[in-house]
Amino acid sequence: EPLIGVLALQGDVREHTAALTAAGARPVPVRTPEELAAVDGLVLPGGESTTISKLARLFGLLEPLRAAVADGLPVYGTCAGMILLADKILDPRAGQETIGGIDMIVRRNAFGRQNESFEAPVPVAGVGGPPVDGVFIRAPWAESTDAGVEVLATYEGRPVAVRQGTALATAFHPELTGDHRVHALFTAMVRARSGGGSR
Ligand code: GLN
Repeated sequence: EPLIGVLALQGDVREHTAALTAAGARPVPVRTPEELAAVDGLVLPGGESTTISKLARLFGLLEPLRAAVADGLPVYGTCAGMILLADKILDPRAGQETIGGIDMIVRRNAFGRQNESFEAPVPVAGVGGPPVDGVFIRAPWAESTDAGVEVLATYEGRPVAVRQGTALATAFHPELTGDHRVHALFTAMVRARSGGGSR
């Protein structure tokens, strides 16, 4: 089973841990550069992207995260995690930094006050079966994506699931639904990258 870290600074770490286990991975919390160096893949949970980026800087993890992702470590970000994977934030808060990895610009809290949180069926390319139950909680969307970015899902015309190389991001939260197909897709990406072997 691939060893998949969950960045455990803030956010819905427990839910991702359960989803990864159900998807056939071995999840482990990551809070230090040493723990990061040991994993075959990494999940960036939902939560508050400003807080996560500040804590990552404080824990000495921001540069190691940037280096690992740039080096091709498979990474999956949900919601706040998607924001962290964006090369650029349209409306960053003061001091807010990203890890980068996906050539896109994200808009935070994009769906607006009237529609802060909602659920909608979202067909996701590469995920077989019925649409994924998209749980959106003050979710971002990709305002623009470069040519190298695969848009796997849109909602109301906005990209809400994207992939570039070994980096995957969803604006919604499959970890809150009990449906592990997106985590299974990510686990397959991790397996492919680590040559099918397990450590
Ligand atoms: N709006 C939050 C942010 O900017 C993300 C919310 C979430 O992860 N559910 O980080």
